[in-house]
Amino acid sequence: MKQSGTEYLYQRRAWVLAQTFFIEDNQQQLTLLAHKYDFDMQFFDQMIEFQQAVIVASEEDLLVVDLDCLYSLQTADNNRTLFLRDLFKQLPSHRDYVYLQTEKQSGRFLLQQMLVESNCLAYAEKPIANDKLVDKFFNLFAQARRNMAGKILVVGAPGVIDKEALQERRIQVIEHDELQSLQREVKRIQPDIVVIAEHLYRRTELIVRILKRNLEADPSLEVLLLVDSNDDELSRQAVMEGFDSLLQRRASDILTRQLINRLGKIRLSRDLISRDRATGLLNKIGFQQAASEVIKQAEAQGKQLGLAVIDIDKFKTINDTWGHYFGDIVIKRLSLHLSGYMGPEDLLSRFGGEEFVMLLWDCNMAEMLKRIDRMREEFNALVFEAEPGLDKQFSFSGGAAGYPAFKTENELFLHADAQLYKAKQGGRNRIVG
Ligand code: GH3
Ligand code: MG
Ligand code: MG
Repeated sequence: MKQSGTEYLYQRRAWVLAQTFFIEDNQQQLTLLAHKYDFDMQFFDQMIEFQQAVIVASEEDLLVVDLDCLYSLQTADNNRTLFLRDLFKQLPSHRDYVYLQTEKQSGRFLLQQMLVESNCLAYAEKPIANDKLVDKFFNLFAQARRNMAGKILVVGAPGVIDKEALQERRIQVIEHDELQSLQREVKRIQPDIVVIAEHLYRRTELIVRILKRNLEADPSLEVLLLVDSNDDELSRQAVMEGFDSLLQRRASDILTRQLINRLGKIRLSRDLISRDRATGLLNKIGFQQAASEVIKQAEAQGKQLGLAVIDIDKFKTINDTWGHYFGDIVIKRLSLHLSGYMGPEDLLSRFGGEEFVMLLWDCNMAEMLKRIDRMREEFNALVFEAEPGLDKQFSFSGGAAGYPAFKTENELFLHADAQLYKAKQGGRNRIVG
């Protein structure tokens, strides 16, 4: 929330503990860049002040520690490893930190080890260009909002996975007990991972082929075999038939953690295909795929949907006047702005350039126009520091279409896009439904 007074002028903040000239020299430029992204940076050169800041910082704030401060915090002792441990001990442990380190520090394995074990959200190696650093910080703000949910279908092994631990990470575990109806279940639930118990596999060896050879099957679906025995012949046959991996039956916490790691990898490779690198939003391919699933669900549940296409007004002028880099910042801030309005079932994508498409779940046309108009109005009120001391506001136009009036993702898009054209013709900074 914007409030008067300098401290809360920006929506988010990065608190930085830094003592050396590297940051000091750059403080002003870093702050100016950060302001363009609508976050503020506050620098601390004393540990005690930084500790106090961490305690009052909001959950959304980013906490950054420049490890160069090691050299100035204590000078008498040469044992830097010890310094680092002391430093980490002094950082409040309920939060995670972004560490900045020198190239020399990054070459020391022991230090790296300690770093990642010490509430490390991310780390970066210096020197790093100011614009890049600020951009990375912005991405961390945006990332915090991303949905990590997933689904794991466990077949024939009740109770082996710690459901609650996974639930905390919004990973849903569905248990199933036989193979005959598995294909149907997979189609219905659309899990990311299927885990099949060895005793069931022994009975129906073709199961993985049945799952994977289906043309409609999700090609990124992972099928794992939960093995109890040390039967090499069985394992060999299983991987030959297409199991992605073998999972040895172990204590529940180990299996659970393995599945979380696995899911993280699946997410990552999927994101490379279906997400836009600059904003983290779905790209066109990702959106089209997800949207057709949502439309199927809307049909099954008798829900209405709203699709909107929005496009920044006079974006060329923004690029031409303040440069492409600033144009990119406007795009990124708009993406974060729009993300804030999305419910868990809604989809938001960057279709390319300065154009975004969203699909709102369980939303009739009147509601949809109201919601998008609010996004428009509040975006229009955001202030961008285009140059130091020069505040600018920008706008977008939008077109909307509703399901079931339009049946497919493509029909919805074409209609909404035609409405967007009318909004532009009508003078911009408006939504037409
Ligand atoms: P209108 O109000 O009619 O939408 O005007 P406009 O200037 O926004 O129109 P147009 O869609 O023709 O211009 C979009 C420009 O956006 C063209 C392209 O150079 C620029 N652009 C596309 N992708 C990016 C990007 O990723 N970053 C930046 N900075 N510019 C981009
Ligand atoms: Mg455009
Ligand atoms: Mg435009």
